[in-house]
Order: sequence, then structure tokens, then C-alpha cells
Amino acid sequence: MPAPIDGPADWEADAICREVDPELWFPDKGEHSKTAAALCAHCPVDGECLDAALARDERYGVWGGLTTRQRDRLVAERRRTA
Ligand code: SF4
Repeated sequence: MPAPIDGPADWEADAICREVDPELWFPDKGEHSKTAAALCAHCPVDGECLDAALARDERYGVWGGLTTRQRDRLVAERRRTA
């Protein structure tokens, strides 16, 4: 997991992806992200991770188990229901 500019957050110490090849979370265009998403599903800090990615409008990779497109859909859904 790439460290944010202001340093890692406390929750990042518990991130599953710290122990696995980070390339899994940044698949090339056309490659699937299912392996990363499956690992995220077991991560104890998936909520914190997703919130952080949404807060910084992360444009690349799988965060909190969601791809960029899935995060964009979530943001749009939240806007519709707010
Ligand atoms: S939810 Fe996924 S990307 Fe986020 S910290 Fe956990 S394993 Fe890493």
C-alpha cells in the first residue's frame, strides 16, 4: 500500500495488503481485481481504507475492496440518497 503524503495512518498497521505483493491492488487495464477484492474482504481495516480512499478521491487501484469504478458508483449512490 502506498503511504499517503502525510504518513501512514494508525489503521494501516493492520492492513492485510502490507503482507502481499502490492501489484495485486493495482491491476493493469483489462486485468481483473478479484484477488485483491477477495483479500480486502478479510481485512480488518477495510472500512477505514475505503473511507480514506473516498476522502482523497483515489483514482487508481483497489481500496477497501472496491475498484475506482465501484467507488465512483458508491459516491454517486450516496449523493442520490443524501
Ligand atoms: S481493505 Fe484492502 S486495500 Fe485496504 S488496507 Fe485492507 S487489504 Fe489493503
